[in-house]
Amino acid sequence: MPPKTHTMTLLIDRDGTVIMASSGAARLLGCEPADLEGCRLHELIDSPGQDVVEAFLRSIRLATARPPLLAVTIRLSAGGRAEADLHVLPSAGAAGAPVEDAGVALLRIEMRAGAGAPRDGSGDIDPGSIAGEAVLICRNEAIVHAEEAAAGMTGIPAGELTNLTIKDLVAPEDLLPVVEALRAIERDGGTSEFGFRLFRTGHRVPLEVVARVRGVTWRGAQAVVVGLRDISRELRSARFATERIEHLNAALAASGEAVILLGDPSGGWPVVLVTDGVGRLFDRDVSGWPGRRFREVWEILRPLFDEPETEERIWLGMLDDPDAVRVDNVGLAGAPRRILERSSAPMHGADGSIIGRICTFRDVTRRSQAEEALIRSREEARRAREELEGVHQELLLANEGLEKRMGQMREMNESLRGLVEMRSNLLANVSHDLQTPLVSIRALTEMILRGSLGEVNADQRASLETALRNIDRLIGLIRNLLAFARDQAREQPLRIESFALDGAMAEAVEVVRESAASRRIALETAVPAGIVVLADREKILRVLINLLGNAIKYNRDGGRVTVDAEDAPGTAVRVRVRDTGVGIAAQDLERIFERGTRVGGSAPGEGDGLGLAIARDLLREHGCVIRVESEPGKGSLFTFTVPKDRAAARGISSLDGRSPVAGPRRD
Ligand code: ADP
Repeated sequence: MPPKTHTMTLLIDRDGTVIMASSGAARLLGCEPADLEGCRLHELIDSPGQDVVEAFLRSIRLATARPPLLAVTIRLSAGGRAEADLHVLPSAGAAGAPVEDAGVALLRIEMRAGAGAPRDGSGDIDPGSIAGEAVLICRNEAIVHAEEAAAGMTGIPAGELTNLTIKDLVAPEDLLPVVEALRAIERDGGTSEFGFRLFRTGHRVPLEVVARVRGVTWRGAQAVVVGLRDISRELRSARFATERIEHLNAALAASGEAVILLGDPSGGWPVVLVTDGVGRLFDRDVSGWPGRRFREVWEILRPLFDEPETEERIWLGMLDDPDAVRVDNVGLAGAPRRILERSSAPMHGADGSIIGRICTFRDVTRRSQAEEALIRSREEARRAREELEGVHQELLLANEGLEKRMGQMREMNESLRGLVEMRSNLLANVSHDLQTPLVSIRALTEMILRGSLGEVNADQRASLETALRNIDRLIGLIRNLLAFARDQAREQPLRIESFALDGAMAEAVEVVRESAASRRIALETAVPAGIVVLADREKILRVLINLLGNAIKYNRDGGRVTVDAEDAPGTAVRVRVRDTGVGIAAQDLERIFERGTRVGGSAPGEGDGLGLAIARDLLREHGCVIRVESEPGKGSLFTFTVPKDRAAARGISSLDGRSPVAGPRRD
């Protein structure tokens, strides 16, 4: 493998002064091409010494067909030195022409790696590679010398170029400044650099070139060396980039967004692009911002925030951590209060490195106001709910108190009802118990008055008659009391309960047992156990007592009263009270149930004609009926129905939810 070489090319004049240097030369020697221009060759080349260089320069002047080759040492940018070969290249534009005529020479310096043998590289290098330039020498605008590269650039052979003037190559609109610049340098010496458009043969579109011009002595007279560099491609890509940035800018501006693009972090985050939206948002002129470092821009932005110190920490902290992504809300100073949503994120290049940041700002005042309003109304709703819960608690407590009160009221009501009932019962029982002996006292008194028990004198008669009147008054009073007690009993609301009929029957029989016995009337009951009824027990008891009372009252002495019951089909139980008394005439059968009606030979003082009417009303309240069959002189049969407790018959409590009784009451 041949040793690797680096090359640099210099254009020097006959005194050894560098007229132009290639970019390779500049790179090797650690400077800009322009820095090399004006340097003396022996300042760059150490060895084999000043004499050698002088001799070399002389050899240039003497060189004819074959250019000389010289081994030299050059100073390097890093401060070291390197071995190199020095070539003089043939001047293509003046092929065959003696070099000393040219007054300039192109030197190629090949830097050797290691101690490789000097190589003759002549002919394999484009002399136009001096800083990538095509070289022309002009005098009075006429082209007097042209390098091959210039021929390549213009499309005109180097030999023909020397028949033209610079005016033939420059686009008309650029001609005047170009000619003026060339003339000034030819006259005054020095250097200049400018751009113009260069015509090319066979191409309609001119090339964009940059000309570096230096005054030289050419064949004993003043001339200019013009190095032309094609920058069309760079310009195109620069224009393309500019257009892209303009498009991007236009798109961002059209979006109304406030965007700042920051460039290369190592360059201090310069502002690359700033949209008008930023200017509007912050009410600042942003036209001068691009190119300025972010810190300068920050000094403008900082006082605008409502907490500048905090913001400073956040922003500069973010730049210290270039990978940080941040989205937050920030307040602006001044009134009315405004809230910005701010986001900042790194931008990455194709290789993943950070090439800048994109910062956007958006006014979210209205949005955050709406959010705040929402939060406020939620808070109010929460408070209202809490208050409501408090009220609810109070209501619950009040309700509890109310329920307690209601319970107490119920108990009081219950005991009141019990008292009322007790009073009625007392009244009824006392009246009944008083009435029965009074009736028999009356009968006895009458008997005595009639003389059935012996002679009665006038005084005795008068006393007995007084006694009889008083007895009748007493009986009247007691009847009134009884009527009152019965009416009260009737007014009581129904208290339905499930109870065994035989128990109630036994209780009723017990009430009338005494009066039956006093008249030797037999009392027979045949109520099967297990018949359960669903009714107001007190009221059914009253009906039974009344019917039994009548059966005794309207019976003959030594007669019989029979009571039985049967579980009839359907919903009711049928109860029968039979007697062997006076009986009731057929025409009176319906009337006896009317209030105050007494029929047949009912003795005065035996009744008030109310008992059956009340019994019928009490049964009607239960939805039940009473009827009578009778045969005058033989006896009567009263039949009535009572609602059956069918659930109890199946073993289920029928009173669930109505009374604490779990099963039929047994007496
Ligand atoms: P009181 O018996 O107080 O007169 P009731 O309403 O109980 O009132 O009876 C109405 C009438 O019906 C009685 O006066 C009587 O004439 C007749 N009566 C009631 N029960 C019988 C009975 N078992 N036998 C014959 N007559 C009766």
